[in-house]
Amino acid sequence: MNGDLFWAPRAWIDGRWAESVVLRAGDDGSWADVQAGLTAPPQAQVLAGAVLPGLVDAHSHAFQRAFAGLSERRESESDDFWSWRDRMYRVALRITPEQLRAVAAMLYVELLRGGYTQVCEFHYLQHAPDGRPYPDPLTLSWALADAAADVGIGLTMLPVLYQRAGFAQPVLREDQRRFATDADAVLALHRGLQRSGRPLLKAGVAIHSLRAAAPASIAQLHGSLGDVPIHIHVAEQMAEVDDCLRSTGLRPIEWLARHAPLDARWQLVHATHSTPQEIDAVGRSGAGVVICPSTEGNLGDGLADLPGWLQAGVPMAIGSDSHVTRAWPEELRWLEYGQRLLHRQRNVSAAPAEGQPATAARLFGRALGAGGTAAGFKSWGLQVGARADLLVLDTQDAALLGIPAERLLDALVFSSPGQPFRDVLVAGRWALRAHRPVAADPGPAFAAAMQTLWSSA
Ligand SMILES: [Zn+2]
Repeated sequence: MNGDLFWAPRAWIDGRWAESVVLRAGDDGSWADVQAGLTAPPQAQVLAGAVLPGLVDAHSHAFQRAFAGLSERRESESDDFWSWRDRMYRVALRITPEQLRAVAAMLYVELLRGGYTQVCEFHYLQHAPDGRPYPDPLTLSWALADAAADVGIGLTMLPVLYQRAGFAQPVLREDQRRFATDADAVLALHRGLQRSGRPLLKAGVAIHSLRAAAPASIAQLHGSLGDVPIHIHVAEQMAEVDDCLRSTGLRPIEWLARHAPLDARWQLVHATHSTPQEIDAVGRSGAGVVICPSTEGNLGDGLADLPGWLQAGVPMAIGSDSHVTRAWPEELRWLEYGQRLLHRQRNVSAAPAEGQPATAARLFGRALGAGGTAAGFKSWGLQVGARADLLVLDTQDAALLGIPAERLLDALVFSSPGQPFRDVLVAGRWALRAHRPVAADPGPAFAAAMQTLWSSA
């Protein structure tokens, strides 16, 4: 219900725990009041545990949820990103709007359980399986938007510019026929989404990658848009860096910094392979990066220069991308563990000299604000004016049981597994209560969709 009043024993405000917090959600679904140090007003709902703000999942391809766990066998001499992609396309070519909605609804409930309250869909699946446009070009976008609305999670749709198979391949491959767009088509999709007036739906755009989009179309797209997020996959794979160098004389991030031009609207997804000069250039531009640690690990992409991005103060959101995991504590843990394994050090992401000795708090703080920006919000978190989202921690969960209050975030990220989020509020309405979705259980429809999808594989 909107207009509700809540009281939490403690809540994460401005990067630290505050005690005895009153939160009031306004009728518009935003926080109208957030105050610490108050006793519970008689009419307030007393929340069952400590409260965190929800996080944005800044990079999702919902249909790939249908593929999670199903590409973990090596069937030839070697297996890499590109052989994974061929197998992923086989799902992309079959899935129907009804199946996509069922898969997305399951995914979105899992994301709520994993502590996300908003998801950015980098959406390149546009056309019917034979490549012909649907009568309504937004058919598959509505499948995702309907799933998100059913479940009660916020959604930022990013229709994707996808024009060619590579730098030297000016047309798409046959198995990329469902993805084909040009800048005019993406702008039309974006307008259609913006006009929809759906309450939890926002719209930006995306460019698949520099290899998949012509420079003139990229210029047309960002030149035609106001202040909306522009996401792009960049420097995920060394083959892409090498192709870009061969074709343009510049590395992908270097190309963007020089030609895009980058600004705070831009979100560089992955940004795995970077040089210090590229990080400096992104840092000066105001653009953000979106790191997807579990997917990057699953696909063997490589490790981003996390210390470099943090040091440069670049906004850094996280994404679950291919959905091999669906909880942000696990993404943050992987983000840090990759660096520990690489540098043979501990707490690489902490910054005691800056007053931030807690790795989890530093990574969470970065991902919180950067995620809000990546999803198109002016403010995000437990503050007046931001959307009224929150996560209630289950301090009876084994991983959190007996943990001192000031160490809850550390344990949440680094003591696993667990089901840490008991209740989830989105725009002033409960989407998850006592670990269960308020909406109908998406499991049966998801299982049926998976059975149909995989029986025809
Ligand atoms: Zn992606």
